[in-house]
Amino acid sequence: MNAALPIVLIRQHLIDPEVCIRCNTCEETCPVDAITHDDRNYVVDAVICNGCNACISPCPTGSIDHWRTVEASNAYSIAEQLTWDDLPAQQDLPELEAGDEPAAPLLQGGQQVNAATSASSTRAPWSAAHPYLNLYSVKAPVLATVAGNFRLTAQETESDIHHIVLDFGANFFPLLEGQSIGIVPPGVDASGKPHYLRMYSVASPRDGERDGYNNLALTVKRVVADHAGAPALGVASNYLCDLPKGAQVQVVGPFGNNYLMPNQNGSNIIMICTGTGSAPMRAMTEHRRRLAAKGQPVGGKLMLFFGARRPEELPYFGPLLKLPPAFIDIHLAFSRVEGQPRTYVQDKIRAAGNTVTDVLGGDTYVYICGLKGMETGVLEALAESCRAAGIDWPALHARMVQEGRFHVETY
Ligand code: NAP
Repeated sequence: MNAALPIVLIRQHLIDPEVCIRCNTCEETCPVDAITHDDRNYVVDAVICNGCNACISPCPTGSIDHWRTVEASNAYSIAEQLTWDDLPAQQDLPELEAGDEPAAPLLQGGQQVNAATSASSTRAPWSAAHPYLNLYSVKAPVLATVAGNFRLTAQETESDIHHIVLDFGANFFPLLEGQSIGIVPPGVDASGKPHYLRMYSVASPRDGERDGYNNLALTVKRVVADHAGAPALGVASNYLCDLPKGAQVQVVGPFGNNYLMPNQNGSNIIMICTGTGSAPMRAMTEHRRRLAAKGQPVGGKLMLFFGARRPEELPYFGPLLKLPPAFIDIHLAFSRVEGQPRTYVQDKIRAAGNTVTDVLGGDTYVYICGLKGMETGVLEALAESCRAAGIDWPALHARMVQEGRFHVETY
């Protein structure tokens, strides 16, 4: 008689297709290539995933952080996950907690890989206000009304960037600067399935786009050109940019529990952004500006490094230049102005030299937002500036990341 084989339980790592915005960050981050995607879903291969968690903190929505206890021989396959519109319920099995299982239960012939050291903090500044999260889901979104929609960039430029104000009426939708919301475009995609969620950083401060109103602002660039990799680009941005005043929009969220600003008004803030990555910077700047206007002491220094192709394509260019230099130190980088050399935010950081390193040495928080490609150049520029000032950048960077002082959000 054969002895019964023991049932091996594993904690299977899964991605929630309902909340995922298909930004590819997890696939890029995974050190063992366990994550893959088709034209709709991002999925995790249980045979390869070793539970190293490197992908968890970079995920902007938290859709990556889902686990189900399953029998090892019965783990959800890649093919099965690619058909999902939402996650399956937990089966009737004893639930495993993180650490209950071997680190690499199913890995065949692979070796344990440690989570990569992140360039970005996974914790909020210690003095940040407490954010509300996930109040509304794709299955139960909140309806917001478009209170305004206007183009921020000059008509003759290629970049069609809109400032869109959404009003929540009597619905509870609290937000902090740096948080994001999800938008569900109406209709279905090419395969007949409802469109998935798209995420946008909020461009207004906690008290509303209009101070004291239950509304928020988004900075949305109309995407027209196709781009290999991510499917159905432009669905949500065209939908949003074309919305008339009074239209209703399905909103999900709020999202984001660490890209938050310090509540300590004496803390310095260095903001580095490209294009529509300026949204959270506008929110933080406006929060501080309103505090100062209301007579509150705002001792912390604000520095902004902002890159765009041309002045006419830089969202909020006019209002930005009206802010007094004593309130905010602005460094604009333009890459496509005729007759001028291409300049990027990293060039402006280098050029600012000691102004940056002096601030970095204090009670300072750094926020980077925009194009994925800027990350490397910005980190190199900060490292170079620190080296020139005799500051040990690797040690300072590691400390800032650990203390919730160094935040990167790029797509
Ligand atoms: P864009 O107009 O294409 O570019 C803005 C500026 O960045 C241009 O001057 C561009 O220079 C420059 N740039 C390009 N590559 C760079 C690099 N490697 N390092 C530094 N600067 C670089 O920007 P956009 O279309 O508004 O895109 C903004 C990006 O931000 C999007 O990818 C969007 O998804 C992302 N975003 C992220 C968040 C978030 O993470 N929460 C929020 C909002 C937006 P060139 O002239 O050479 O192209």
